[in-house]
Amino acid sequence: MRRISIFGATGSVGESTYDLILRAGGAEAFQTVALTGGRNTARLADMALALRAEVAVTAHDDCLPDLAARLAGSGIAVAAGPAAVAEAASRPADWVMSAIVGAAGLVPGMQALKTGATLALANKESLVTAGQLLLSTAARHGATILPVDSEHSAIFQALIGEDMSAVERIILTASGGALRDWPMERLASATVTEALAHPNWAMGPRITIDSASMFNKALEVIETREFFGVAPAQIEVIIHPESIVHSMVAFHDGGVIAHLGAPDMRHPIGFALNWPARAALPVARLDLARLGSLTFRAPDLRRWPALRLAGEVMAVRGLAGAAFNAAKEIALDRFIAGQLGFMAMAGVVEDTLARLSAETRLGNAASGLEDVLAMDHLARIRAAEAADNRAGG
Ligand code: NAD
Ligand code: MG
Repeated sequence: MRRISIFGATGSVGESTYDLILRAGGAEAFQTVALTGGRNTARLADMALALRAEVAVTAHDDCLPDLAARLAGSGIAVAAGPAAVAEAASRPADWVMSAIVGAAGLVPGMQALKTGATLALANKESLVTAGQLLLSTAARHGATILPVDSEHSAIFQALIGEDMSAVERIILTASGGALRDWPMERLASATVTEALAHPNWAMGPRITIDSASMFNKALEVIETREFFGVAPAQIEVIIHPESIVHSMVAFHDGGVIAHLGAPDMRHPIGFALNWPARAALPVARLDLARLGSLTFRAPDLRRWPALRLAGEVMAVRGLAGAAFNAAKEIALDRFIAGQLGFMAMAGVVEDTLARLSAETRLGNAASGLEDVLAMDHLARIRAAEAADNRAGG
């Protein structure tokens, strides 16, 4: 039986993964090694029981008694905290879903690669913060990384059987998020509730707000650069409000291969689960005649400064991705807490990058994970200061 683990099992991608695993036979078809979650211990315990997991891990120490009580007598081991999450990732498994949100997904993903597993990577922050380390670790341990972000799965699929030297451009589509059609002058006062109203995709709250600010697309541009190894100038972003074309690859002969489908993460997750085969998946079928038209337009960089910042981060490379992501996470925390305006998030990230490039060598390549984690830590401190300055001034 195939051994699987799901990190971030109780989240949006985690739930979709769990759904596909159940449909494919659940505990009869897979041996579940580890499932991890956060504060939703009731859901984590249900999943662990249904899949007869070896271990269930909550990220929070104070949630351990509750998780232990729910799984008492089941034979399922329980643990809590970041070190326990990392330990769970070092348990050998064939297929590991990395669906923790934020930089917290980096260490468990790295641990899983060291076991030689196939890592289904939804946690784009891993590639943004430590792309080169991740790829070299995978290569050293014979592990495979399969992208799960819908755009990157689309690109991966468009590239099957192709030579990278034939690629001219990669075109990432973006829905534009909840505030896409708002007048520019209203954006500064957008609320959390407004930013959460995504038109097409049902996702976790953080990535949904990041879609409205386009920080999500900025992360994805960097993810593309790192995972596919193309130059920054080869990456384009195009606004596609319908979210039907998930991304495109343009080749030197003028041909463009696009990947289309209903906006349902169970497609890219299922593709990664069944790869290199394709199996039937429970996603809605496209009816292009009923859709009638698909539309595209160029993004406005004044509306979405995050896209401009992604270009700057790629130009510096090195530890800039770790700094960018950490600053973005702090700015997003502050926006969610009502302490920072919607457009001020990009300002905080920009201030943080400027400050860090003056005081550190942002362009230095990470020699190991410690460098990435140290930059992540420092950038969080500087971003909090930048946010305080903006909020105060
Ligand atoms: P989510 O918020 O719905 O779920 C996050 C999961 O991570 C939960 O299980 C939560 O308990 C866990 N978690 C949160 N903080 C943690 C921490 N510090 N340590 C350990 N576990 C922690 O998020 P999501 O929308 O499922 O997104 C997960 C990842 O997948 C993100 O990196 C996101 O960018 C990426 N992604 C999501 C989608 C989507 O459709 N939701 C699409 C593409 C990529
Ligand atoms: Mg995406």
